[in-house]
Amino acid sequence: MSSSYVLSCDKISKVYRQAQSELRILNEISFKVRPGETVSITGSSGSGKSTLLHILAGLDKQVSGEVYINDCQINKLADTSLCKLRNTQLGFIYQFHHLLLEFTALENILLPLIIAGKVITQPLRDEAMQLLSRLGLENRHSHYPAQLSGGERQRVAIARAIVHKPRLVFADEPTGNLDNHTSNQVLEVFLQLQAELQTSLVIVTHDMGIASKTQTKYRLHNGSLEQITI
Ligand code: ADP
Ligand code: MG
Repeated sequence: MSSSYVLSCDKISKVYRQAQSELRILNEISFKVRPGETVSITGSSGSGKSTLLHILAGLDKQVSGEVYINDCQINKLADTSLCKLRNTQLGFIYQFHHLLLEFTALENILLPLIIAGKVITQPLRDEAMQLLSRLGLENRHSHYPAQLSGGERQRVAIARAIVHKPRLVFADEPTGNLDNHTSNQVLEVFLQLQAELQTSLVIVTHDMGIASKTQTKYRLHNGSLEQITI
């Protein structure tokens, strides 16, 4: 498998089996993401967008098909190796921020570095503060999530997802919970940072306005992925 791709997946299928029935959500999905590329996946609610992202990030291994991050087939990795790969190379942003409520904004941002085993030195703190500042939150570093607005929480979640300079960020409707104006503001600054870091991005959304800002656009429909132009 070529290392010129950050992500590559081949014939991903997902079936949810219930007592009486089978629900085929994803049907032999294959696509690739290049370094620095931005990719959107649109689709109606229930089309399987979150299911697909979780599979690509190695959070769901109950699938058929193959997923490669760089050269590494993640569905063959042991859990510890997968965690290490996730902590060093991947970032994840959810619709609901998933910040830890008992930690400040700055501490939330530093957590991925701590989990990856880094000692938090002053230069690392300064870098995290710079990131907060780029996101317009320099005066909010000591705020707890409950003391932040929805847009501010999502910006902290973005900072947390990119603080370790991952090669690839997955975003699952990251602004789906925000009003249009805030959503656009958050997205603009996120795309600027992503371009500077040359981090690849796979963003799932049902918002065509967001999708139009990405280089490569797919639609997920009836379990299949088709490339679209908008
Ligand atoms: P989306 O993110 O596009 O809104 P999801 O990936 O969350 O969609 O879900 C896709 C479909 O899979 C939905 O119809 C949902 O009901 C179904 N689904 C999700 N999780 C499970 C599960 N654990 N068991 C059975 N069906 C599920
Ligand atoms: Mg979803």
